Amino acid sequence: MKFKVVLFFILLTQGGFLQEIKSQVNCRTSEVNEIYFQKNISAQKEYKSFNKKSKAQNTTDKSMSYQIPVVFHVYGSSFNGKSVNDALIKRALEELNKDFQGLNDDYGSVNSMFSSIKQSINITFRLAKKDPDGNQTSGIVYYSEKSGYGNSSSSDGQIMADAWDNYKYMNVYIQNDLYGDDATNNSGLAWYPISNMSDNNLARVVYNGAYLATNTDKEFASTLTHEFGHWLNLIHTFEGGCEGTDEVDDTPREDGLHNLKCLAGTNCDGDFVNTENYMGYNGSSGCYKMFTEGQVNRMLLALQHPARITLWQTQNLLDTGLLIPKGENSNPEVTINDPVDNSIFEEQTSIMVTTTISDLNGNDNVDKAEFYVDDILVDTVELLPFETTLSDLAIGNHIVKVIAYNHGGLSNSAEISITVIPKINFPEITWISSNDIYAGNNFQFASGEITRRIEIKAIINTHNIIVKGPDFEQSFTTSLEETLIIDDIAQGTWTVEIASLNKKTSKTFN
Ligand SMILES: [Zn+2]
Repeated sequence: MKFKVVLFFILLTQGGFLQEIKSQVNCRTSEVNEIYFQKNISAQKEYKSFNKKSKAQNTTDKSMSYQIPVVFHVYGSSFNGKSVNDALIKRALEELNKDFQGLNDDYGSVNSMFSSIKQSINITFRLAKKDPDGNQTSGIVYYSEKSGYGNSSSSDGQIMADAWDNYKYMNVYIQNDLYGDDATNNSGLAWYPISNMSDNNLARVVYNGAYLATNTDKEFASTLTHEFGHWLNLIHTFEGGCEGTDEVDDTPREDGLHNLKCLAGTNCDGDFVNTENYMGYNGSSGCYKMFTEGQVNRMLLALQHPARITLWQTQNLLDTGLLIPKGENSNPEVTINDPVDNSIFEEQTSIMVTTTISDLNGNDNVDKAEFYVDDILVDTVELLPFETTLSDLAIGNHIVKVIAYNHGGLSNSAEISITVIPKINFPEITWISSNDIYAGNNFQFASGEITRRIEIKAIINTHNIIVKGPDFEQSFTTSLEETLIIDDIAQGTWTVEIASLNKKTSKTFN
């Protein structure tokens, strides 16, 4: 009995520990920016005057699209036991871009109290394809383990040495121990647009690799979106508590206790808290969904800040390899490899659609592939392999279409027709050889005789059953409950198939 009690206690402790590591955003963005301003009066002046300007100005063009070249610097190989590789970083950016663009799958379920002010921004953060020397790059650089890049100045020398030109690249540093204090559960932080930092190649987002993409749960992974929001000058929605401000008018005040999590509730002025906002902490527990109009306006203005405006200029996109020079651009070639045109599938079959997509610059220049069924978008894939799985298609004819876009803005498409039919049963087959002493109703092999028979009992009348053997091939259309019998067949491998459904079975007679 005593043993049981002790065991229970240990389990509880472990559970609590794991939860603590996973679910708390610890973002010191406001603190570290404040420290920077205390040391750099000119930076503080610039920040304050830009804040004033941001509040006074309403941006006009919300439809314009922006691309930001990004470099990830990754330090070490273990992040609370998780690893970080190219695929994980690409996945993290893919999800983050969806958050900014309002393409996150829970964007439609924003609380009705805030759905009228939710807003997306047409910005895409993309890994650089050319490094500062003009060489090809994955946009990801790996280093041995280091920590402390979240500190305000102690690592400045190392950061400057590792950084890529801040006026050309957004620099993201992935570490596990962000402050060099052995704590590995801090999620991330970022610095607002500050010219003095960009001049010194210190502008940055610092983020914990343990909370990138699938290294954590999907909602908590949007904490990266939160940090990129800071990089675009967004302030915590709870900044300064009930007396503070995030310099945005349409976000309700928050007391900064973050205890609502994903429940609807009020604090401060009695207004409902926008718990689903990326710039608070509540949403990390499972409901990060939105930015507001005011926040998007502030981000659009941040893109005009001297420390950000150079990044998305056409010349910089050419320099960092995100745009292909005219003359080197070509429409992508799109081929649907599987299924072939006019394929037939039974209902409830998962249908894998595979493609080959490339242009003059190979498949590396492919931006995305959109998959449509009957003109309805069902999937968007931004990474190799460009494929998707269709399931639960209704019985009937369908057009499967793939539209591919390259980074040069050109597109092309391919389509096939498929038919989904009701489920049918594969024939019941009996293979009989002289090795089996068979005593059927009307036939009997004598022991040792070299004689073989196939009996095929089928309930199919629209699909051909094809029987193939050595020097034999014949197709049959059976009717209800009919049994085909083929006798005295040769030794070798025999196959019975319904080719149109890609179903077959075979047996080798010795
Ligand atoms: Zn933050």
